[in-house]
Amino acid sequence: MIMRGLVDAHLLAGNEQALTIAQGMADWAFSRLGHLPRTQLDKMWKIYIAGEYNAMPVVLADLYALTGNENNLKTAECFVNTYLFDAAIHNQDILAGEHANQHIPQYQGYLEIFDYAKETDYYNRSDYYTAAANFWEMVVPHRIYVDGGMAGSGEIFGARDVIAATIQTSNAEGCPLYNMLKLSRRLFFHNPDPKYMQYYERGLYGQIISRRQNASSANDPLVTYFLPVNPGAVRAYRGNLGDCDGGTGPEDHTKFQESIYFRSLDGSTLYVNLYMAATLNWPEKGFTIEQSTNYPTDPTGATTLTVHGNGPLDIKLRVPYWVQKGFTVKVNGVRQSLGAVAGTYVTLSRTWAPGDTIDISMPFSLRMERTLDQPQTQCIAYGPIPLVVQSATKTYLDFSFYKDFTLSGNLANAIKPTGTPMTFATNGYTLAPFYNDDTNPYHVYFHRFEPEVVFGSVDSGVPNYQRSDGFTFLDLVWNEAPFAGQGQFQSVVARISADWLAAGLLTSAEQDEIVAAAARAHLGP
Ligand SMILES: [Zn+2]
Repeated sequence: MIMRGLVDAHLLAGNEQALTIAQGMADWAFSRLGHLPRTQLDKMWKIYIAGEYNAMPVVLADLYALTGNENNLKTAECFVNTYLFDAAIHNQDILAGEHANQHIPQYQGYLEIFDYAKETDYYNRSDYYTAAANFWEMVVPHRIYVDGGMAGSGEIFGARDVIAATIQTSNAEGCPLYNMLKLSRRLFFHNPDPKYMQYYERGLYGQIISRRQNASSANDPLVTYFLPVNPGAVRAYRGNLGDCDGGTGPEDHTKFQESIYFRSLDGSTLYVNLYMAATLNWPEKGFTIEQSTNYPTDPTGATTLTVHGNGPLDIKLRVPYWVQKGFTVKVNGVRQSLGAVAGTYVTLSRTWAPGDTIDISMPFSLRMERTLDQPQTQCIAYGPIPLVVQSATKTYLDFSFYKDFTLSGNLANAIKPTGTPMTFATNGYTLAPFYNDDTNPYHVYFHRFEPEVVFGSVDSGVPNYQRSDGFTFLDLVWNEAPFAGQGQFQSVVARISADWLAAGLLTSAEQDEIVAAAARAHLGP
């Protein structure tokens, strides 16, 4: 971290002495590590915490890029952590039980070595990229909570696809997300796959804006260390001055402005990744682009880009992963046919003229997310914002929604606005945005409780059985919503109940009761 600060003092503020000191430290590291056999390096890096060298390979590769001193790149390679590196190259997920933040920055370093090395001492150059890209896939979505935070126990990675079972009082340390977003951004520069920036938004508008207190202090960074997701959790904003999360937490907020706009290498394309009020000045192309929006607190998602400048440019707009319907784009008031798909980019190819406007609308909707390991442990998000249940109870709350469903199968039937912006009521509780910076107890996850097969006010009297994978009969029925009419709804119920009968999950009498109940139910549109 000291080396990083010195290199940044040089890069960002032109301080030559800082570079001299950083290079002196790098020379020392080379003198200590450069002659050691690989077996000894591997032994050191495998030691829990003692091997927590964090982003040493990143800063050394940066120093190499600045100085051309080959020893810096050699030293960066000394920090290869062989057992996890090899596993990542071969896409073997052995992360369970590893200290998350000890290792995430190592993969940033591998990408940097890939960027700068012509050839390397220990591995093929392409292995460095492969390891970083494969590692990312092991974390997203296999080890994240709804807010993008790291799923595991305390600071330790959990097992793959185990989310709900990891929840305890100290989940989701800040630093792992801080580093995963850095890795995501850098991977996007190599491969502009939208998944990287979709996860970026999830983390920014999930954990990052939720772990910072909106207050001022001269002696406390006012960020949480963990941002727990257990029932009745309370944010602890105080006391992280001098620890890792008191450092990464404030810096996290530079991630908003640094990733709003990207350009392609040839300058032909502008990526609009994030929606927030921000002006892009691009003097090389003669463009200034002004963005105005109240995202993410305005649920219409209305965003306007005003173009100042002339000439051809492809503008790629990110279609958020959470969009269900209604993502529309107008250029100078004219609606564009773009075939927008959630989780992708749409492209506006055009010769722009001063004053051209792009109006984007991306209405927020309520969305339920299930944990990968326990489909009945769920949470609610509204557009990009996780909603938390306000309750001091220390055990999971039970929530039912299906009895309120109409043929649309929309959660909005069961979760109603309270009149306070971004705030809802359901099952007798209030759902508020996670970003509210209070110290009230909250629940991110709840247990879905749908004990009987009920359609509106009609109760079949049959238990809502669960399959071995955790999904219930009603989950499968409503998974096929929206229904065009009562007839389609009844035929889906008949088909699924016949499947469950054939699988021995329903008796013939139970299937009859369910089909009869569906026929009696009159679910509104
Ligand atoms: Zn930390």
